[in-house]
Amino acid sequence: MTPADAYAELVRRSKELGVLNSCAATLAWDQQTYMPPGGAGLRGEQMAFLAALAHQKFTDPKVGELLAAVEGSDLVADSESDAAANVRELRRGYDRATKLPQSLVEELARVTTAAQQAWERAKKANDFPSFRPHLEKVVGLKRQEADAVGFTAHRYEALLEEYEPGTTVAELKELFAGLTRDLVPLVRRIADSPTKPDRSLLEREYPVDRQKVFAEAAAVAVGFDFAAGRLDTTSHPFCSGMGPGDCRITTRYNPRFFPEAFFGVLHETGHALYEQNLPAEHFGTPLGVACSFGVHESQSRLWENQVGRGRPFWDHFFPRLKQTFPAALAGVGPDAFHLAVNDVRPSLIRVEADEATYNLHIALRFELELALLSGDLAVADLPGAWNERFQALLGLPVPDDTRGCLQDIHWSFGGIGYFPTYTLGNLYAAQLMAAARRDLGAESLAADFRRGEFVRLKDWLVANVHRHGQRHRAGELCRRATGAALSPQPFLSYLAEKYAGLYRAC
Ligand code: ZN
Repeated sequence: MTPADAYAELVRRSKELGVLNSCAATLAWDQQTYMPPGGAGLRGEQMAFLAALAHQKFTDPKVGELLAAVEGSDLVADSESDAAANVRELRRGYDRATKLPQSLVEELARVTTAAQQAWERAKKANDFPSFRPHLEKVVGLKRQEADAVGFTAHRYEALLEEYEPGTTVAELKELFAGLTRDLVPLVRRIADSPTKPDRSLLEREYPVDRQKVFAEAAAVAVGFDFAAGRLDTTSHPFCSGMGPGDCRITTRYNPRFFPEAFFGVLHETGHALYEQNLPAEHFGTPLGVACSFGVHESQSRLWENQVGRGRPFWDHFFPRLKQTFPAALAGVGPDAFHLAVNDVRPSLIRVEADEATYNLHIALRFELELALLSGDLAVADLPGAWNERFQALLGLPVPDDTRGCLQDIHWSFGGIGYFPTYTLGNLYAAQLMAAARRDLGAESLAADFRRGEFVRLKDWLVANVHRHGQRHRAGELCRRATGAALSPQPFLSYLAEKYAGLYRAC
């Protein structure tokens, strides 16, 4: 078999897997939206069947032979060619999938299923001791997973690679050190500012049917294609890209808290724009897949925060918002509203945190994950370590584990290494936005937003991020799009400038 024939067969198999996985994604979407409760048993069987079939196809030894036949050939000599990128990423996935012993995969599935149930109960009852043995098992198995996959500098990197290939612990440590050094004093200065946002104006009566119309209009304005997507309601919002022409987002409406659904929709729309603008011709191969979790998150945070919490955005949307919710916003001006959606104050819960304090929540989790994985921190000592570091970073005492180390689901499902991608998303978002401003003109871009026009920014993101799929790793994508390696500085400058205006004390 020639390398060209081997590559063609690899692409054929990869695309077949893409179709198979999109079937599973469609079933998963249905499960979370419209499936009747009685369908749960059958759905479980359908999903397990598809997952086993996909695993079997992907780990077929023939795939390894095909990869070996292409690697080292002229086809992949140019590291930026289609073939080189596809082969590089297929190799990474194949190695990861085949290095893990079947027994470990099954054990992880069993242990994390039980751990998630235990976590839910423990969180409700503020009962860390009942979760502790489960988490000990999860951490032990994740160590085994890392050892089976292999790593060079730090065991954590083997886990991180599942979400953020190529990013190292050393890079993350440096990013988080730079962030916490500036964020901790920034948050204190804002707390000391006499300017206090009035959050209550967001907590009035916002009828859900009108919220829905308003959020959909904003999604369309920033570029969501409803002919190739849907917006539905679920208890846990998500975005699911089935493939070309079909990307579905969900949200959750709170009749007495406007930001929840609105910024949730902008967030998921950011994810959806990425999915809707991946190159369709590469569907099913790595070139048709988003770069990394962090880069995906950068697209959601960019539209939610960089654009959606900015003044030019609300210069356009606030008058329309007042027309839509005349009772709730009677007597409220644009300044008060803009300040309210940029309320900064340390709080206990990560998912409710504002832009400034959010990354401190992640810095804490990253530190603790590293220590748990290396054995420097025993699971039994987790609540104490959490509470101590939380107080140091956010200046608040933690009243109970429910609002402390039990608040997130991630560790119970084995998602160690996942949290840093949220902060990477914030940092990539700020750096990409700064580059877009430089390329398109900061003033004219702001003028676009004031007119409710976002197409130039969207097109810039398509050209610099979306259309590349996995051609480059995240670090390289960032260098090409922005001209520099990822740094916390654009994010810190963005916050400093924004809050200097809003709080007049930074
Ligand atoms: Zn997201």
